Amino acid sequence: MPRKTEIKDYIRTIVDFPHEGIMFRDVTTLFADPRGFRMAVDQLLHPYAGVRFDKVVGLEARGFILGGAVAHQLSAGFVPIRKKGKLPGAVISEDYQLEYGEAVVEIHDDAIEAGEKVLLVDDLLATGGTAEAGIKLVERLGGEIIGCAFVIDLPDLGGRKRLEAMDMDVHTLCT
Ligand code: AMP
Repeated sequence: MPRKTEIKDYIRTIVDFPHEGIMFRDVTTLFADPRGFRMAVDQLLHPYAGVRFDKVVGLEARGFILGGAVAHQLSAGFVPIRKKGKLPGAVISEDYQLEYGEAVVEIHDDAIEAGEKVLLVDDLLATGGTAEAGIKLVERLGGEIIGCAFVIDLPDLGGRKRLEAMDMDVHTLCT
């Protein structure tokens, strides 16, 4: 097996998952490798050296794994954004469009205080719909998003452009 040197080398592609025609970029192989996981967390943080964050917001579910490690490194708090009906306390919600149908994401309504500086984290940026809904939730609570960081960018799906059109700073590690 060739030596793994880049983030990309640790990511596995599963064809036709969860349904036909999807090339699923599986980051569990990246997370399972001690060197790969550290590299991913370090590189996600790279542009933000010296920046103070109050909260890291992770998108369900792989954003929790990355976001928890990133928050620890930043000595920031961690806040989950979850699919509808999973958070136990009072929430605010955002709907967004999927390829087939709609989805809803939620955040606890007291998870972020007005003026707090936030880093949004997920594994993969595709259409940007999930991240856009997450950004709206954070902004509705008065949080200030300093950056949106993803391991993988699928540029053909337009997520980066969509978030940049919202004046977001987008950081991705590979395409
Ligand atoms: P989107 O809202 O279209 O940007 O999709 C991003 C979300 O869907 C992320 O939470 C990803 O984990 C997941 N996702 C979308 N496409 C893929 C893919 N090809 N492989 C793995 N995860 C994906």
